[in-house]
Amino acid sequence: MIRKKLIAGNWKMNKTSSDATALVTELVAEVGRTSDVDIVVCPPFTSLEVVGKAIEGSSIKLGAQNMHHEASGAYTGEISAAMLRAIFTNYVILGHSERRTYFGETDAFINKKVLAALKNQLKPILCVGETLAERESGSTLKVVQTQLEANLEGVSKDLATNVVIAYEPVWAIGTGKVATTEQAQEVHAFIRSLLVKLFGDAIAQKVRILYGGSMKPANAPELLSQKDIDGGLIGGAALEARSFTDLIKSAAAVK
Ligand code: PEP
Repeated sequence: MIRKKLIAGNWKMNKTSSDATALVTELVAEVGRTSDVDIVVCPPFTSLEVVGKAIEGSSIKLGAQNMHHEASGAYTGEISAAMLRAIFTNYVILGHSERRTYFGETDAFINKKVLAALKNQLKPILCVGETLAERESGSTLKVVQTQLEANLEGVSKDLATNVVIAYEPVWAIGTGKVATTEQAQEVHAFIRSLLVKLFGDAIAQKVRILYGGSMKPANAPELLSQKDIDGGLIGGAALEARSFTDLIKSAAAVK
């Protein structure tokens, strides 16, 4: 298979450092030697360093949930790409719908972060997706296209394979409502076609497109067996070792 599956856990604003250490210690014991699936954990900033230490020597990689695009300076409360790299962070979630909705992040702002992440050898997990109103009005593909094209503006072909896209229908995040496999595959295939236009076929075939939105061990096998679904960005089910490791095993079982 050309694209290795990737399962990323977005812990959001959950877990103190000691809770985070306990969870990641279980993950390392259970799946820390997995090589047929890429595994990423994205704890809150306060736990990045302890989680980074706990995964040393395992195949699990570290991701952050956000960053600022400037290198340093007077941006109270913010964290730069270089700070993340200094503690061996490999991935960063950008443009999550919660950042877009609650913190007013625009497509142009997210684009600056994507470019800054890539410049600093961080792999962006770029989230795009429509709201329920947008789906019901038939504008899903248009919304995803607008976000994707704006967020990836200026990304070079050389760096494009370092980008991971997460298709996350906003109405499916944390709601228990999962997109049907047909709904998800349709948007994933559309995203792949946009990537072909932006970067050419060879590169587009290498970019991983994750599904996110109430993915659980029960619905993962069907979603993950779709042609253009290359893994999952997992919220709720990543907060507990059993469900997260079951998701990883589902991804590993897909041929
Ligand atoms: C997310 O927030 O990225 C997400 C997919 O959450 P959940 O799995 O809880 O829907």
